[in-house]
Amino acid sequence: MNSNEKTINKFDNHVAHSYGRYPLAMKSGQNRQCIDENNKKYIDLGSGIGCNCLGYCDEQWADAVCAQVRTLQHTSNYYYTEVQAEFAEKLCNTTGYDSVFFGNSGAEANECAIKTARKYSFDKYGKGRHTIITLVNSFHGRTMATLSATGQDVFHNYFFPFLEGFVNVEANNINDLKEKLDDTVCAVMLEYVQGEGGVIALDEEFVDAVFELCAQKDILVIADEVQTGIGRTGKFLAGEWYGKKADITTLAKGIAGGIPMGACLFNSKTKDVLTAGTHGSTFGGNPIACAGGIAVIDRITGEGFLDEVNEKASYIKTMLEESSAVKSVSGKGMMIGITLADESKKAADTAKKALEKGLLVLTAKEKVRLLPPLNITYDELNDGMKILLDILEE
Ligand SMILES: *Cc1c(COP(=O)(O)O)cnc(C)c1O
Repeated sequence: MNSNEKTINKFDNHVAHSYGRYPLAMKSGQNRQCIDENNKKYIDLGSGIGCNCLGYCDEQWADAVCAQVRTLQHTSNYYYTEVQAEFAEKLCNTTGYDSVFFGNSGAEANECAIKTARKYSFDKYGKGRHTIITLVNSFHGRTMATLSATGQDVFHNYFFPFLEGFVNVEANNINDLKEKLDDTVCAVMLEYVQGEGGVIALDEEFVDAVFELCAQKDILVIADEVQTGIGRTGKFLAGEWYGKKADITTLAKGIAGGIPMGACLFNSKTKDVLTAGTHGSTFGGNPIACAGGIAVIDRITGEGFLDEVNEKASYIKTMLEESSAVKSVSGKGMMIGITLADESKKAADTAKKALEKGLLVLTAKEKVRLLPPLNITYDELNDGMKILLDILEE
């Protein structure tokens, strides 16, 4: 019997059926490869979903995490820990933000951003200025508030009523933005590169307009960098490509190298909005996650690391663009969307075929999506891309 099946059956019997899963039971991983319960190997060009930014079980990262597990695994947020202080300091020094609130996921980081924006406005202007503008085709998470923020109709089923006070603007439509920036708005929230929406980078002129119009009216800009942050696009934050620093930036996915963590970064304007008792998280700032985060940030900010990410990104892009099976390549850095030339080919089918051939890739809408581990080697890349291009060119 295929030994993946035992695990898969247990899942079917006992784990909620909230995901469409591939028939792969993952056993372990090393470098940029994992193996399933039949000892079949897979090259991973998805990093989970952008979480394993240093690949599987990176040695330095694992040492840091294991040492922390044996030292202090948790304490409540009534107390201080050096490891959280250290990670917060490194995050702020690297990004130029003033302070950080730690949660456990992207959705939680965005919840924190939404609450902070509303309180900032309430403290200064009183009631009624609570609308948050988000973009059509955005994705901000699965909790009630972040679902309400998400600008895709497919997510707005079943769970009525959604939260009030979210209005969608078309991405890159400055006139639509101008029309909707009325006196009820406290914040505009955006992904510089829409991830789940199809790996689409925002136009520079649009981002410029958002920042300019918001500054005029003291409306906050929230950058959801849950997917784009932590070096994914070749800069530590994707906002750097646009020369922009939002009032609030949220992070998660790659932040701790595959350990659950989210972070909400505040600038000088937003750093004192949350006061004692206004927000919290039992697990937020967990020492193990912080130790993982320090290992990640030390590596990514190390000399030449992001240059290499950019070099590998253009290497992948060139390889794809030279293939007759590829219509176009979107995204930034190692956040890559591939539109297939043959429109009858479905991205999900490509992902399934890749799996059979020992390669993990992701999809986003109609595109094949790659979020390779940032420290992938050229050998691993060549092996993975060969499998992918062979499938695409079949
Ligand atoms: C993944 C993602 C989220 C949600 O993160 P979770 O950790 O799943 O809650 C939010 N925003 C963006 C841009 C994402 O890519």
